[in-house]
Amino acid sequence: MQEKQLGFHTRAVHTGNAVDKETGAIKRPITMANSYELPYDPTDMNWSSAAANLYTRNGGSNQKYLQERIADLEGGEDCIALSSGVAALSGLFFALLQSGDHVVFANVTYIAAYRLLNELFNNKFKVETTIVDTTDLEAVKAAVRPTTKLIHIETPGNPTLAITDIAAIAEIAHANGALLSVDNTFASPYNQRPIELGADFTIESLTKYINGHGDSMGGAIIGKKEHLDLIRAQSQINLGGVISPFNAWLIMRGSATLPLRMRQHNENAMKVAKWLEQQPSVRFVSYPGLESHKGHEIAKKQMTNGFGGVLSFGLKADHDTHNKFVSHLKIITNAVSLGHDASLIVFLGENDERQYLYPEEFHNGFFRFSVGIEDAEDIIEDLRQALEKTGLT
Ligand SMILES: *Cc1c(COP(=O)(O)O)cnc(C)c1O
Repeated sequence: MQEKQLGFHTRAVHTGNAVDKETGAIKRPITMANSYELPYDPTDMNWSSAAANLYTRNGGSNQKYLQERIADLEGGEDCIALSSGVAALSGLFFALLQSGDHVVFANVTYIAAYRLLNELFNNKFKVETTIVDTTDLEAVKAAVRPTTKLIHIETPGNPTLAITDIAAIAEIAHANGALLSVDNTFASPYNQRPIELGADFTIESLTKYINGHGDSMGGAIIGKKEHLDLIRAQSQINLGGVISPFNAWLIMRGSATLPLRMRQHNENAMKVAKWLEQQPSVRFVSYPGLESHKGHEIAKKQMTNGFGGVLSFGLKADHDTHNKFVSHLKIITNAVSLGHDASLIVFLGENDERQYLYPEEFHNGFFRFSVGIEDAEDIIEDLRQALEKTGLT
């Protein structure tokens, strides 16, 4: 497509949009109809095909417009938009993995990736799994077996912000005949494009930065058409986690400002991380933009526009004091999710069963903080006054 020559901002606005032929409206409409008119003789049609407009579970108009935009922004050949980020993860694993296959996956991932691979696929379908610290390339090499079908990583990883070298892991995967999937949700395609670094699949929770406004859910798998046709046939049409036309439309609208929002997220998170690092009551700050972050050099290499809006930090305080601190925040909201316009914070206590997989500073309870696009000064002032009210200055 010729549009590939255009800049990221231009493509975020234009790809997938067109003048509506019927009304002349300059934005494509929401098509809520769940079925499409059939040809004169439909008996030869494949009811499980995504090729033609047929039924919205096989692929709706708004889904297709959104897929066109996301594939373009990620630098991928094709995209499948689904109902959530987890539908994208499970759709990928379901289509790709067979009993007896082996998967290497990162010690730091979204919780559902861990549950799917390590519990559900492992126990129900006899898919073998090895959890590895993917910041350690030698450990990844050692974990790969002849039966390894997939390496799944997340960078920056949720919730510790661990950074994995995408290009280096792609080399290890391909040298062993395995595929690499990268969950790119924390970075967004504005900051990082895994396919350009050698990954076979990029996963996005569209719920987060790409929608950006905290008001809809979606997920995407980006990759080569030959792989995605299989995932579409097996996972979208037969598992059925299709995205609603309305959510696809909302995400389409939100994504037009992705680069503008990401710049503000990047800038705000960097300011907040540097400020937090100066506070005597702060035990640690993990943000890939800080020189103190173990993965900073790799992050600089693969996150070309910035380090994202999420950071984690802990206080020199006990469990209850962490909760008290949150209760004093006025602008920053106590809620899960991330990548919203508004700043969100969540206290991850000591009961995460995966703590043994994280570095030690994460063992005593810490915050995951999604820095929003408000004024950085207001966010910092909110943190400062909450520390003061908690008696932690
Ligand atoms: C939120 C999230 C997901 C899951 O996305 P949903 O849209 O909530 O299903 C997957 N990966 C990462 C890194 C996430 O932060």
